[in-house]
Amino acid sequence: MSEKIFVTQSTMPPFEEYVEEIRELWNTHLLTNMGPKHEKFRKALINYLGVENLDLFTNGHMALELTLQAMNLQGEVITTPFTFSSTTHAIVRNGLEPVFCDVDPTDFTIDVRKIEGLITDRTSAIVPVHVYGNVCNVEEINRIAEKNGLKVVYDAAHTFGCTYKGKGIGTFGNASCFSFHATKVFNSIEGGAVCHNDSELGYRVNQLKNFGIRDAETVLGIGTNAKMNEFCAAMGICNLRDIDNNIMLRGKIVQRYRKHLDKVPGLQLNPIQMNVKSNYAYFPVIFDEKIFGCSRNEVAAALAKEGIYARKYFYPLTNMLDCYKGRFDPEKTPVARYLSERVLTLPLYPTLSEADVDRVCRIIISCKK
Ligand SMILES: *Cc1c(COP(=O)(O)O)cnc(C)c1O
Repeated sequence: MSEKIFVTQSTMPPFEEYVEEIRELWNTHLLTNMGPKHEKFRKALINYLGVENLDLFTNGHMALELTLQAMNLQGEVITTPFTFSSTTHAIVRNGLEPVFCDVDPTDFTIDVRKIEGLITDRTSAIVPVHVYGNVCNVEEINRIAEKNGLKVVYDAAHTFGCTYKGKGIGTFGNASCFSFHATKVFNSIEGGAVCHNDSELGYRVNQLKNFGIRDAETVLGIGTNAKMNEFCAAMGICNLRDIDNNIMLRGKIVQRYRKHLDKVPGLQLNPIQMNVKSNYAYFPVIFDEKIFGCSRNEVAAALAKEGIYARKYFYPLTNMLDCYKGRFDPEKTPVARYLSERVLTLPLYPTLSEADVDRVCRIIISCKK
């Protein structure tokens, strides 16, 4: 049997390149607390993402949770359940109430036609999620937020390096949070960042990520510890050198998947969005059993039998997670529910071979009845 294929494989720089990047740490003994690597990485990211300000965190979740905390939001936050648990947890852990908006059936991001109907006098913010490398309707979200006096914080964990109309995706809304987790398009082992153009917000999140400390004898906020260390920053610096090449290779794999699966009845593929430069983070396929003749779960099992581990991103919906049992009504987001029960994300990473893509597609097509 061939080697196992997982949905993703973490990108790593050549070993020697990483060793070269961390060598000086053995002289300086500066391992964390916003050292030179942290600053070098931060500057490189500001440049690459085309954003005004960027603050680093130990992971993407803490970037999001602390950004929401720093904004002193109250009441309700409009978001989507078609996401990783992190998005909803970040809202709930801030004592805020998530109000779930349904998603668009074609690009899987928040359905902007349904946002205004959910706004109440308690609504303070919108937390939309860019999914799979698809970007939300940022213009319409901006219009709704301005009209209603709401903050917008994007969960941009899936859209590192994406642009909309040539502008970095991190420039939209009041803030955008990225994840540099090992499984993402770009990684610093673990890591995350918030991009914004608000120096006051930057000051507050930096304090919150370091116990609320202002100086050695002054602790102003009830903060936590979410600092990025120097080894992670060094990994990020190395991986950033190869990011454009990696995104290009991902694009080629997506093209090959499309070639095989585009015309297969009963399969809905991830869309190609106008004015968007994608990062090809994931390749989701929606299986309509009534037409294709085989369910998502059956396809997943057929692939697993051959050592290919596709994933059901995002299933279950966050408004159906065990920890939220009885708290939300998933019937209010029927499109998200439809997608969640039928979606399978196929293996996708820069070193995935064309032969493997062909094999994955052959197995999928052989499920057709
Ligand atoms: C990965 C991810 C996060 C959390 O990022 P971490 O770096 O793992 O903490 C948040 N939201 C979405 C949509 C993600 O995919």
